[in-house]
Amino acid sequence: MKKYNFNAGPSMLPREVIENTAKQILDFNGSGLSLMEISHRAKDFQPVVDESVALIKELLDIPEGYSVIFLGGGASLQFMQIPANFLIKKAGYVNTGAWAKKALKEAKLFGEVVEVASSAADNYTHLPHGYAIPSDLDYLHVCTNNTIYGTELHEDLEVPVPLVGDMSSDIMSRPVDVSKYTAIYAGAQKNMAMAGVTVVIVKDDMLGKAPRELPTMIDYRTHVEKGSMFNTPPVVPIYSLLETMRWVKAQGGVKEMERRAKERAELVYGEIDRNKLFRGTVAESDRSRMSICFVMNDEYKELEKPFLDFATERGMVGIKGHRSVGGFRASCYNAQTLEGVNALVQAMKDFEALH
Ligand SMILES: *Cc1c(COP(=O)(O)O)cnc(C)c1O
Repeated sequence: MKKYNFNAGPSMLPREVIENTAKQILDFNGSGLSLMEISHRAKDFQPVVDESVALIKELLDIPEGYSVIFLGGGASLQFMQIPANFLIKKAGYVNTGAWAKKALKEAKLFGEVVEVASSAADNYTHLPHGYAIPSDLDYLHVCTNNTIYGTELHEDLEVPVPLVGDMSSDIMSRPVDVSKYTAIYAGAQKNMAMAGVTVVIVKDDMLGKAPRELPTMIDYRTHVEKGSMFNTPPVVPIYSLLETMRWVKAQGGVKEMERRAKERAELVYGEIDRNKLFRGTVAESDRSRMSICFVMNDEYKELEKPFLDFATERGMVGIKGHRSVGGFRASCYNAQTLEGVNALVQAMKDFEALH
């Protein structure tokens, strides 16, 4: 049976990305060796890194003065690496969910941290709006898509201080004004690649200012200076990243990704709002296009498990909601297809007809 992949991460990738990566795993560039067995210093691999960096810069229209590096450790390591490198006196964090809260906790190990705004009291069902931002922050950290709760910042904030963005689950889904950011980071396994690589975009002239000695691997300068080759980078994940970036470009870039994301989100939220069985979980204006969360209406609560089974029988994978929200979550990253979204919407309609 055809499967429709709504996994939250690692998640769906374009079929051609998987096929092209699989080919290189069997025989890298006709060398007779697998991508898994070549040296990262092989002369054939450097172009993979170079093209990946160039495509990310091109697709996100990254201005001069920024570096793109590929690291291990996931977005979770960035929760500490960001403050280690950029927290001088005081950093601000917007608490919009589980990931934002984890980032805030790690930053406290490095200096003064202000929770500038929070929607925790409302179980993160909306983004905080209209809060004051101290002008003396080294940076303001935001999580642009709250993967678990299903809220998303659809535009870069207008703020008086530099931003740092955890864009793990919405990078490459819209144009971004990178010049507003000191750093952007993303675990690549949601919208860019297979698991194993983290993409970090850093503003070069903000490096080396933090008043602390940094372990070599934690200092971004190590990786900037060595072009992500200080130690062995995740070779196969980087290759899959390259294929995804080629795909995004061939499809029309991040503007086209944004158009598709809006189209998919309108279809799914449209059905959630129309269907008597379901309701969305977050404020309408903050609804995520990537992480679409919904639950059964109270009077139909007992149909939660039956709907999950119904959808699973029709090939839907990964729509069970995160345990902190319950219900359902349809992750609609860049690779998600209209066919997949339509199959989900049809399942919701057909299930409603049965009840
Ligand atoms: C998944 C996710 C993370 C954690 O990523 P890891 O690479 O598993 O550490 C952090 N932030 C956001 C927004 C995420 O969606």
